Amino acid sequence: MNQNYLKTIRNLKMIQRRLAASAESLSCPPPLSHQLPLWVFLAFSLFFTFTSERQASAWGLQKELGPTWKDSYLISKVFEKHSIDFCLDIADPQQFSPQNLEIEVKAALKVWLAALQPVDGSPVSLSLVDCSDANYDLKVEVGPELAYPKLGGYFLQRKDHNPEHSYSLIKIPTTYFYVSSTGTRYATVDFAMWYPQSSSHSSQPGAPFETFLEELSLKEKLTVWDFAETNHLDYISVFRSTYRLLIHELGHAFGLCDTYESQFEIECDHQHRSTQTSSEQPDSVMKSSNYFYLTADDIQGASEAYRRASELAGH
Ligand SMILES: [Zn+2]
Repeated sequence: MNQNYLKTIRNLKMIQRRLAASAESLSCPPPLSHQLPLWVFLAFSLFFTFTSERQASAWGLQKELGPTWKDSYLISKVFEKHSIDFCLDIADPQQFSPQNLEIEVKAALKVWLAALQPVDGSPVSLSLVDCSDANYDLKVEVGPELAYPKLGGYFLQRKDHNPEHSYSLIKIPTTYFYVSSTGTRYATVDFAMWYPQSSSHSSQPGAPFETFLEELSLKEKLTVWDFAETNHLDYISVFRSTYRLLIHELGHAFGLCDTYESQFEIECDHQHRSTQTSSEQPDSVMKSSNYFYLTADDIQGASEAYRRASELAGH
């Protein structure tokens, strides 16, 4: 390959990453958004966006990872009980298979838990429970979105009627469409739709879906771009798929904030973030979300979240 070709590919990838970042900027409202009226939140967002000094983006912890909400974060469940119970609330099981989503949620959880092994070597068990269960740790909703119709996916800390029950909520909206610059509308799709034809690219051809995801994230470590390119798929469609969304949103459930420019100041705790000033900041799951694996920056952030949550719990 000649230099011009490589340069073109690099530029194309840069454009795609920017596209990813801009698409993702609509994906996660800051946690404040569910505590304040939307217009107040939007007014503050615009104010901070236009007045704050542009900060370098790197790993950071959510401002809400403090005494009030610490118990709702999955990072706390790791050292508290070494288990995570999750439930699935899927509005249309014909469109989004509960069996596939269970496998995808478990695989995405394992991606983050693998990063925590150096700081907490104990295995964490994962269990699917019913959403009528009073003590689940994570609820994944896949369905129409009424509260935040402009968001492509989001995470919120939640407490239900029982004040002892706080949990992480991840929403994957099926009513959201990403509209490209050419006017193409992209719906949210189940990542499993590409499993049959792409499994031949796994190092274990014909492997079960869970093995395929594990290979993709923990061994092959493919970016969203690389996966799309390898399998001749549309990049934005892969970007708008459930597994990619789950990996990013679970980063919030493990305590990390969005580190792309528009959200960094709003979401990230000033006292718990790396504060590099260079324009060359590390890209990551929490920045462009262009990954099916954790970058070194995400892994460092997860370790910091673990330390922060442990300290808050008095461990
Ligand atoms: Zn996010």
